[in-house]
Amino acid sequence: MKEKIYTIPIQDAFAAGCECPVCAMYQKLEENAINYTIGPGASYMEEDIREQTDGQGFCRKHFRDLYTYPNKMGLALILKTHMDKTIRELEKAAEAPLPSPNSMFKKQVKPSSPVIDYVEGLERECFVCGYIRQTFESYLRTIFYLYEREEEFRQQFAQSKGFCTSHYKDLFCLAPKYLNKKFLEPFLRELNGSYLENFKRVRDDVEWFICKNDYRYQDEPWKNARDALQRALTKTGSIIIPEEET
Ligand SMILES: [Zn+2]
Ligand SMILES: [Zn+2]
Repeated sequence: MKEKIYTIPIQDAFAAGCECPVCAMYQKLEENAINYTIGPGASYMEEDIREQTDGQGFCRKHFRDLYTYPNKMGLALILKTHMDKTIRELEKAAEAPLPSPNSMFKKQVKPSSPVIDYVEGLERECFVCGYIRQTFESYLRTIFYLYEREEEFRQQFAQSKGFCTSHYKDLFCLAPKYLNKKFLEPFLRELNGSYLENFKRVRDDVEWFICKNDYRYQDEPWKNARDALQRALTKTGSIIIPEEET
């Protein structure tokens, strides 16, 4: 298989043997994004990046990830100017006319106010999520690129452990956009088969996990069920539980 710089993250993810290679790709990308935001490259010291983090802020998950990253001074600088911006914008927004009581007939209507608009904008946006979004579709596109061009990758795809439900949908949804006529149908059939077959395999592992907690099965072997919950969470929730938490 010819290795090009942009195909390496995809090939690595498929070689990792995870319950969803797309989750493995996403996790790596997320690590890179956190690293880019607060890591040694110090992108937060650049004015244009800080302008973006000031205005967008971060989602709950990524605020937490930034806190876990060992650069508390970097986080303090990011937080201070983000808070300055929030204060400026909300002070301005609070000067607008205040919402009036809902009329009898319009109890369900959300009041309109620049305060609500600004905070809802913050809730929608996240600098790290935005960074990931930019690259993620190009990663998915590379899966289709390799599938069309490399027999070896097609085999790797066929032998993978399937996908989580959400990334199954992403691949299903994007295939008609990126695959030519020759490969679209075989890809979709293979994807359907691989998703369902492997989802059932993990479902059976969860069932055996339940059995193993019943005294009647105490002496039976664990088979593949010891880490059934972690793997089932990847399949259903698109999350990879780190080994130290298992
Ligand atoms: Zn996934
Ligand atoms: Zn985020």
